Amino acid sequence: MLRFATVRNSQLDNEDSTLRQAMFDHLNRLLLATQAEFLPFRVINTFEFHGQRISLIVQSGIRKVAGFSGALTIRTTFTPPSAVPPYVDDVGSDGLVHYKYRGEDEGHSDNRALRYAMEMGLPLAYFVGIARGTYLPIYPVYVEAEDRSRHEFAIAVDEHLHGLDLGSIDDFQREYRTGMTKIRLHQPSFRSRVLHAYNSTCAICRLHHSELLDAAHILPDGHPRGAPIVPNGITLCKLHHAAFDRNLLGIRPDFIVEVRSELLREIDGPMLQHGLKEMNGTELVLPRERASHPDKDRLEERYEEFQSGK
Ligand SMILES: [Zn+2]
Repeated sequence: MLRFATVRNSQLDNEDSTLRQAMFDHLNRLLLATQAEFLPFRVINTFEFHGQRISLIVQSGIRKVAGFSGALTIRTTFTPPSAVPPYVDDVGSDGLVHYKYRGEDEGHSDNRALRYAMEMGLPLAYFVGIARGTYLPIYPVYVEAEDRSRHEFAIAVDEHLHGLDLGSIDDFQREYRTGMTKIRLHQPSFRSRVLHAYNSTCAICRLHHSELLDAAHILPDGHPRGAPIVPNGITLCKLHHAAFDRNLLGIRPDFIVEVRSELLREIDGPMLQHGLKEMNGTELVLPRERASHPDKDRLEERYEEFQSGK
């Protein structure tokens, strides 16, 4: 049942919303200053409120600050490069992400803090682990519902998903909500995992500007082996991503770049010459971590498609 703030605790609620706003300002400042999408937890945890350091990410997952009733943040730990992160499969029939209780006890103080945030409609920050010690911050998110039998809460990862009727949901609404969850959580987390693995550098031309980079799928989303895992991704700049998608260039399973022969015969300006033709025969710049390298079987399947398009 929904509970509302009373006059008695309005002072507390004021302080609560000041704390949350200060946290969002802190995150905005960090992302703006670094021009990054993901941050090391040490940087995220430099948050100060009234001169006091407050860790925003904690080991246990749910962050509740002493003196405040509602949870402030939640966290999902990182997944190894070749595994699908748990939240990808944890989207419920309501289109929201389902977040497990801390432990088995619904009365645990952390679970109570999330329940309180749900009842009061409080905005939280969600930190999604994309590599060891590195997080993608998503905010504001809201706790929308609780399923006590499954020991989980339903999280809206976008304001457009907040406060919607969860009782009767038709196929259209389910599709819309699932789509929003993908846009706000799944796509950015895949992108962050792949960019982080490649140190935010185009694997073909070494361009090192994340605003000009994409996480390209080797096999597309929807393909039986098109899972959103790092070995099915390559960090490419916008030009090389588009050229790869349209089979103007291919990547051999031995990581050598091949430019389509018609293109090699063309003569045009510097972008064609340096940006594309000169990439022919070069080797991909691979992630340091072997587990993050592009999967050769997937590359082979994709390369066959490139060849057949020649
Ligand atoms: Zn490039």
